[in-house]
Amino acid sequence: MSARACARVAGLLACALALAGCDAPTVPARTGAYPFALQTVAGEVVMRWPAGGTVRVAVAPGGAAASNLQAAVTAGAAQWNAVALYGEYELVRVSDVADADVVVAGSDVPLPVDVSACPPSSPGFGLTTFCLSPDGRSLTTFPLAGGGGHIRMVVTVLASFATDGAAARRVVAHELGHVLGIARHSPNPADLMAAAAPTDRPGPADVATVLALYHTPATVVP
Ligand SMILES: [Zn+2]
Repeated sequence: MSARACARVAGLLACALALAGCDAPTVPARTGAYPFALQTVAGEVVMRWPAGGTVRVAVAPGGAAASNLQAAVTAGAAQWNAVALYGEYELVRVSDVADADVVVAGSDVPLPVDVSACPPSSPGFGLTTFCLSPDGRSLTTFPLAGGGGHIRMVVTVLASFATDGAAARRVVAHELGHVLGIARHSPNPADLMAAAAPTDRPGPADVATVLALYHTPATVVP
């Protein structure tokens, strides 16, 4: 894709329309994985964080749903971390956006970063947005409103979902799958990474897929 174009993982948006319309010495069995590569105009790329790394996620301050979203990030991170067999990744919620790699925000809250270079679409009920860097090997940084920071992904959650605790957990857990690098949706409608995000925890195929992803060399590292 063109170097400055935005690559958006807009799965839940698509779904909402549809409804309304390694390094490990031993590689685990990965039967049941579905395709996870990010499709760009330049072809498929494998995007994931460095193996063994920590991905820090902060919730944007303000709004009625901030506490719901904080709880949802904590729960979703725990669900994904529990299935990492060899510490392939660790999602951690941090309280300060200045410490974060990823920010999660309700759609009714001003984003704490400048997204003018790569603006998110209107979310269906959830949306993960990031931009490929000019060399196509990493992601650009969304600068904090006051400058600095190292946020490379913005997750937006429709406010009406963010304010419902159970819905927030489903949407955030699903979007965290995209944050980890699962850039596609499961064909099984029961999976967390199905477009409708029917659950708040990864199923067997989601687990097989994230493990396959983290045992595949990355072509894009956030
Ligand atoms: Zn999705």
